[in-house]
This record gives sequence, C-alpha cells and structure tokens, in this order.
Amino acid sequence: IRRNAGEPEFHQAVHEVLESLGRVVAKHPHYLDQALIERICEPERQIIFRIPWTDDAGQVQINRGFRVQFNSALGPYKGGMRFHPSVNVGIIKFLGFEQTFKNALTGMPIGGGKGGSDFDPKGRSDAEIMRFCQSLMTELHRHLGEQTDVPAGDIGVGGREIGYMFGQYKRLNNRFEAGVFTGKALVYGGSRARTEATGYGNTYFVESMLKTNGTDFDGKTVVVSGSGNVAIYSIEKVQSFGGKVIACSDSSGYVLDENGIDLALLKDVKIQRRERISEYARRRGQGAHFIACDKGTIWDVPCDVAMPSATQNELSGKDARMLVKNGVIAVGEGANMPSTPDAVKVFRTAGVLFAPGKAANAGGVATSALEMQQNASRDSWSFEQTETRLASIMRGIHDTCYQTADDYGAPGDYVLGANIAGFVRVAESMRMLGVI
Ligand code: NDP
Repeated sequence: IRRNAGEPEFHQAVHEVLESLGRVVAKHPHYLDQALIERICEPERQIIFRIPWTDDAGQVQINRGFRVQFNSALGPYKGGMRFHPSVNVGIIKFLGFEQTFKNALTGMPIGGGKGGSDFDPKGRSDAEIMRFCQSLMTELHRHLGEQTDVPAGDIGVGGREIGYMFGQYKRLNNRFEAGVFTGKALVYGGSRARTEATGYGNTYFVESMLKTNGTDFDGKTVVVSGSGNVAIYSIEKVQSFGGKVIACSDSSGYVLDENGIDLALLKDVKIQRRERISEYARRRGQGAHFIACDKGTIWDVPCDVAMPSATQNELSGKDARMLVKNGVIAVGEGANMPSTPDAVKVFRTAGVLFAPGKAANAGGVATSALEMQQNASRDSWSFEQTETRLASIMRGIHDTCYQTADDYGAPGDYVLGANIAGFVRVAESMRMLGVI
C-alpha cells in the first residue's frame, strides 16, 4: 500500500483478485514461489509524460499522458487509451491490471496495458482534438509497436481520436504499421464489428448466464448506464434478443423511456451530434423523462437485468440493494469495475447472476486481437464472420469462468471463476519465462 500510495482504485482491483487466489494457492502452492504474486501486481513499465498543445484561442495547454505497460507474459501489451479529466496514474494502473487478466481470459496472445490522459475532450473543436492527439503521439510513439504495445480506445477515445493518433504514429515512423493500433476505421485497416464488440460481447455473456438458469433476454426489462460506445451497442444487442431497455444515462443524469429506448434517436443524439442525454428525452417526447443526477440514480429504475456501462464505482452498495429489492436477476458489467466492492458483495450474497467486467466486457479486446490477425494477414473479414468469432469467444469465456468456479468449489461464482482462470494463464506463462 505504501508503494502505491494515493491509488485507491488500484488497491481495490488488486484486493479483489488476491481475495480469489486463496483457493488456487491452497491447491497449487508453487504459485507462491519466486514472488510470482508480487511480480504480477507490479507493472513492468510506467511512462508519464507532458503533452503541450495549443487551443483555438492560441493559448498553450498542458496535459499529462500515461501508458502503463503492465504485463507482457502472454504477448504485446494491449489495452485502450482513456481521455477524461479524472485520469491519474492509479486509475491507469487499475485498468492495466484488470486488462492483464481480461486479455488472458480471451485465450489470445495479448499482454495487458492501459494509457490515457487527464485531457477533457468535452467542448473541444475537431482541430483541438487533432492537435492534442498529435502532441500525445509525438512522445508515445517511441514506446509502441505491433510486437511491443498496441493501444485502442476507451472513455473519450473513439474512431476519430484513434485516426489522429495512428496518423501521427505513421508519420513519425515512416511506416504503415496497421497492427500498432486497434479500433481503426475500416478504410485504413480496421475490423468490422470492433465498434460493436464490447457491448455485443457483454450481451452474449449475460445471455449465456441467463441460459444456465433456464431463461433468456426475451421480454426482460433492462437498464444500461452510460450512452457511449459500450452502452449503445449493448442496447442494440439486447433489443435484438427481445429485451426491452428502458433507461440509459450520461454524467448529467439518466433518461427513463417507458416505451423502450429508440436506438436510432439515441445514436443521432450521442454519436452524430455529441449532445447531452437530456436532448434524447426532449426529442423523444411523451413517455420519456430526463432525471438529473442530483435528483436520483438510474439504479432506482426497477429491472430484470442491469448492465452498468459508464465508469468505475458508478454502482454503490446502496444502489445494489435497491436493484435486489426491485427483483434484478442478472448484472453484466460492461464498464471496468463499475460496481463497488460493497455492491459486488450484495449481488453475490443475494444470489444474483453477476458477470464481472474482466470477463463480460472482454469482447472488445478479443475483437481487437481479431483486428490484429486481419492486419497481419492483410485480410478483411465480413461482419458476420467476425461477429460469429466474437460470439463463440464470449461463450467460451463464460464457460471457462463457470467451469473454473465449479472446479474450485464455488459453483455459479463468476467473480472467482474469472479471477482464477485469468490468473492461472498469466502465472503459468510467467513461471516458464523465469524471474524477469
Ligand atoms: P465512452 O466515452 O464512449 O462513453 C462513456 C459513457 O459513460 C458516457 O455516456 C459518459 O458520459 C459516461 N461516463 C463517463 N464517466 C462518467 C462518470 N464519471 N460518471 C457518469 N458517467 C460517466 O466510453 P466507453 O463506452 O468506451 O467506455 C465505458 C466503460 O467501458 C469504461 O469503463 C471502459 O473502460 C469500459 N470498456 C470499454 C471498452 C471499449 O471497447 N470501448 C472495452 C472494455 C471496457 P459523459 O459523456 O457525460 O461523460
């Protein structure tokens, strides 16, 4: 704790994984050798740098950039970039740590990393975003490479930002190295279904969980927090499975739409126009209401399935108790660590089917690995082919977590299953690579 002072999110993520490992080391004490667990909690490398850029008024602005290269035992570091004013080294470390186990769960040859900046893209012009991305990449490019470290998107980083960062990387290196970034647009080496993958993947995972309990999404009432990339494509897939999504949100509040979210309108408000969620309620009219964040939380809305897809610690113990009281049967974490430890405890104690983020939202990075495969073979797969692979990867992750929980005497505990299965794969590789 002293070595990682002032990093509560990192402590929280490490604590949750270590809590699950008691059963593993009881069965396989060799994982205690060679300080393996201590090494797995220590990032291999952390880069912190200055990002100077000029705004539209001619004023020089300074932001801080981060890249935490957490673990490369299974392959090149892989994980997104986040642009949000709350970003600090502790948040990037928690995300990189989670990413290491998530990537292991996909079964693909990718290590774990994460990066970002405390830059706030809200209200910035296109030209400002471009200058910022170029300045960031002017430093970061020397630390990346398709065999070294492969970033992607996250909060505040979508196709536009990835384009600007990749463009600057290409210019500085004088190399068209498509596999150095994922989440690229189709026209310059992106993969079909990558944009949709995290939201679709979480929905496939929850569908598998519901099926183990003899049910499915059809006719269920669903609440999805956030209205960004993960939320929008979760809503799309849930609707295609027959579920009715009645609420979504952004950081200003949430909308409750009794008739079910109108996805085309939501995409227009959030993707095309980049407006606030209250605009959705205003344009939708009857049956849709906007509730500001100081007037209530989205978790007060009664539902069968909850899919927190905004940010870390957005769902508290109190929220979880309300969801349980209202009869929730399943929770799928689209975001990274959206439920507080207290909330996770409430769900597990109440017997709610609970899919932890590192398993449920792995569809994005899995499809990123498919994008790397397509780049390496200079190929481009159809949407159907890519989605079929994604669906089978998500069912595979579900089954691995389910089976592992069973093997370790905790049937139905997906948190334990995900932590143990992810840990064992990374730990096995680290043992074979020696003390490095
Ligand atoms: P986006 O930037 O596209 O959307 C984020 C959404 O969450 C927005 O609606 C945003 O609202 C809301 N939000 C962000 N911060 C807060 C906050 N502090 N309080 C309330 N609402 C907030 O990001 P993504 O959809 O890509 O990411 C969402 C989550 O999913 C993150 O935890 C991310 O790490 C995780 N994830 C993403 C993957 C991906 O492929 N994109 C892969 C795996 C996990 P507002 O616009 O008002 O800020």
